[in-house]
Amino acid sequence: MPDEGSNIQKDLNPLANAERQFEEAAARLNLPQGIKEVIKRPRRATIVSLPVQMDDGSLRVFTGYRVQHSIVRGPAKGGIRYHPDVTLDEVGALAAWMTWKCAVVNIPFGGGKGGVICDPTKMSKGELERLTRRYAADLSDLFGPESDVPAPDVNTNEQVMAWIVDTYSMHERRTEYAVVTGKPLEVGGSAGRREATGRGVLLCVREACQHLAIPIAGATVAVQGFGNVGSVSADLLTRDGAKIVAVSDVTGGVHDRAGLDVPALLKWAADHRGVAGFPGGKPLTTPIVEYDCGILIPAALENQITRENAGRIHARIIAEGANGPTTPDADKILEEKGVFVIPDILCNSGGVTVSYFEWVQNRMGFYWPEAEVNGRLEQTMVAAFRDVLAKAMEHGVNMRVAAFMVAIERVVKVIMLRGVYA
Ligand code: NAD
Repeated sequence: MPDEGSNIQKDLNPLANAERQFEEAAARLNLPQGIKEVIKRPRRATIVSLPVQMDDGSLRVFTGYRVQHSIVRGPAKGGIRYHPDVTLDEVGALAAWMTWKCAVVNIPFGGGKGGVICDPTKMSKGELERLTRRYAADLSDLFGPESDVPAPDVNTNEQVMAWIVDTYSMHERRTEYAVVTGKPLEVGGSAGRREATGRGVLLCVREACQHLAIPIAGATVAVQGFGNVGSVSADLLTRDGAKIVAVSDVTGGVHDRAGLDVPALLKWAADHRGVAGFPGGKPLTTPIVEYDCGILIPAALENQITRENAGRIHARIIAEGANGPTTPDADKILEEKGVFVIPDILCNSGGVTVSYFEWVQNRMGFYWPEAEVNGRLEQTMVAAFRDVLAKAMEHGVNMRVAAFMVAIERVVKVIMLRGVYA
């Protein structure tokens, strides 16, 4: 019999959580025999050892991963994370969520994810470049526009993607932009990609507010994580009239019940590498997820809303900018409390949607104006939100179960049409 400690550990294992979410939805679908096993398991997991020359002349060996969960609907798609806590289980969970995310928004990609165990805050730009190039070189037989297309994730950015394009292109002896997405505009990037995940969060929040008859104007919002996803979500929601009342990142947190000046906070965070000390607000003393607000946007890491703190959440809407911020046990508590959770595989799918547009533009060699990108993003996200909401209403389930049901059905349909190669 597992003790309480190991139960808590299990609740915090992202791979176990991704599997529980999958199982709950799959149980409601009449899946053909054996198919569940086929789509549940990752297709391929690769571990690489990456020797890197450090600035002081020493040699360090980093561990990197790439998991391709599925290529049934198209090339594996998913970001690369640099973080000291990266594990193979975490990368595996993130890869599976990518499969379901791409299916929810109905774009022709499978799911993948990569990670390197490292602390980029303690590395120079040169060390990061050498690490990135070694990772890209070692995995260049997996990567490719038709096979596996990475993108940025936590602690990786446009610059990292540009290094990957360059490394891959040197190996291929030609420039290949479509090998990664989330690139700088000058290196085959798409207008609107940097803001796409945050814009998708905004579009989902708008839809949720409309469904629940809550006006966005004047709504109070707390945002955990002020990186790519959190900062853009906060900025765009402010433009819709919402009040950002609390923000936190790895440096600390600030709050103001009257609403923070988001443009000033953006500038402060850029100049000071974090939100801590922002003079336009008071230091946050309570955990941000428990802050008294109408809308909570977790936009940092996994396992932020657990069975320990879910009972203390005030928000009426949780918009999951991050991947896996809510554990399955917490989900149950939130459902009982009547909290409307917009699940990660729907809420943060704006990034991969515009990644798909970027990949299409690279392959066409023809680039769209930002308004066209944003217009297509809105069409895609609104359709996905409505598909999931309709499924939730039809089956009397929450939005997460409904999103998984929509996604699993789409993947299974393709497997049935393609058949199993033997
Ligand atoms: P990022 O590196 O740009 O930002 C991460 C932010 O989280 C930083 O502000 C960091 O300080 C903060 N943070 C880290 N630990 C924290 C903690 N314990 N408490 C509060 N803040 C903390 O990363 P990002 O790209 O914004 O990604 C954030 C989340 O969104 C991740 O879960 C990622 O997988 C997910 N996501 C990102 C994208 C994308 O396009 N970038 C797309 C979909 C999902």
